[in-house]
Amino acid sequence: MKEITSAEFEKEVLGGSKVVLDFYSTECPPCEALAPKFEGLANLYGNDIKFVKMFRQQNKELSEKLGVKSSPTLLFFDNGVQSEHSLSGGIKRSDIIHQLDSILPAARVKEIKSIIKPTVSEFDVLILGAGPGGLTAGLYLCQAKVNTVLIDIALPGGNVSTTHEVSNYPGFIDPQPGYMLSHNMSEQTKLCGTIYKVAVDVTTSDLEKKEVVIDEFETVKANKIIIATGTSPNLMGVPGERELKGKGISYCATCDAKYYGDKDVVVIGGGNSAVEEADFISKFAGKITMVHQFETFTANKQAQEKLFANKKISTLFKHEPRSFVREGDKIITEVEDLTTKKVSKLVSDGVFVFIGMKPNIDMFRNKLTLDQWGYIKTNEDMQTSIPGVYAVGDVISKKYRQITTAVADGTIAAIAITKELN
Ligand SMILES: Cc1cc2nc3c(=O)[nH]c(=O)nc-3n(C[C@H](O)[C@H](O)[C@H](O)COP(=O)(O)OP(=O)(O)OC[C@H]3O[C@@H](n4cnc5c(N)ncnc54)[C@H](O)[C@@H]3O)c2cc1C
Repeated sequence: MKEITSAEFEKEVLGGSKVVLDFYSTECPPCEALAPKFEGLANLYGNDIKFVKMFRQQNKELSEKLGVKSSPTLLFFDNGVQSEHSLSGGIKRSDIIHQLDSILPAARVKEIKSIIKPTVSEFDVLILGAGPGGLTAGLYLCQAKVNTVLIDIALPGGNVSTTHEVSNYPGFIDPQPGYMLSHNMSEQTKLCGTIYKVAVDVTTSDLEKKEVVIDEFETVKANKIIIATGTSPNLMGVPGERELKGKGISYCATCDAKYYGDKDVVVIGGGNSAVEEADFISKFAGKITMVHQFETFTANKQAQEKLFANKKISTLFKHEPRSFVREGDKIITEVEDLTTKKVSKLVSDGVFVFIGMKPNIDMFRNKLTLDQWGYIKTNEDMQTSIPGVYAVGDVISKKYRQITTAVADGTIAAIAITKELN
């Protein structure tokens, strides 16, 4: 795998036959999650496709010229021509494979796939999701000498790793950068001896059989499963959002705010995440317009006071986005005034969306008992409706979703499982 700069772009990328180029940034959890997948695929496809990477912060001009608006972004080139298909944000291994396979002859793809040999491994407990809930369960199980594996589609840390600052996790006098808090949690669990299989694709899961297949070829079996898959940002579902996702519309301030130095940004939402992240984005952006559907923010008072004192931020209450369109370098957000029904246009360089979260249960939707909002129902020991399957953290049905409550759930599930296994 070669790291290149803008100066080498012409020779290494445009001069190559089939090339995939990864634009990455620092302090970018999805970039870190992509790195091991990219490396692994470079080993598999390296004889046929050239894999190169470029540091976006130091090659801003070229990345902008190539239309890169989000980190990480993968661009594909065939004989010097850039493909219209690109991948960005939380990139799945299977999506990259799909793209790579599409540019190679079918017979060659078959040969490459034949190199992969299926494997099977067995554990006492399999934890799906390495956020605070899963990491805490992993720590307690490991300390109880229970043979445990932690599987995550990204790197460990969960939503905390993309939060710029956490001030309410007990034990720290000063606010902690989210990535440091999650790094420390992860290291503590890893050093204890828990096995990590992270930045993988979860191909299938069978909760009854307690079996999970990862990256299409590795079967992991266990006596018990803990689901700790947390939540993901809600999309607004308005025209233009999907097309511009990762191309001017972002859901991760720590990943992308640094590219909006002195620029105009729209932030959508009014809860704690939106208000706190807007304050963080203002460290970079020149001007921020917040769009919120209600008359007041729902964030806590402390966060609101900080926001209202911030001269860079103005607010549009009782407004809702209706569509997004790209015009040249700008994103046009059409917003409706919910009182007058009048629609106006906000011109900005980028949009950040923080309008709540949805549970990551797509793999288990029809198998477990859920509440009316789609969160997994558990009993007080964190057991789900399937024997031997537990769930913890933000993915379960409960009133308050915080790091402390996820950590508490992970503790309870681990102690209950340890007692059962004994
Ligand atoms: C912007 C923001 C700011 C926040 N600030 C605070 C704060 O200041 N204080 C506070 O207490 N809380 C805060 N929270 C809430 C806090 O982050 C969550 O309550 C906490 O992270 C929940 O932990 P979890 O382990 O349940 O899930 P998550 O942190 O969501 O972790 C879930 C993990 O599961 C993985 N995963 C998803 N699907 C799969 C799958 N199919 N297979 C395997 N793995 C999967 C994900 O990659 C992820 O690593 C914030 C949340 C956000 C979004």
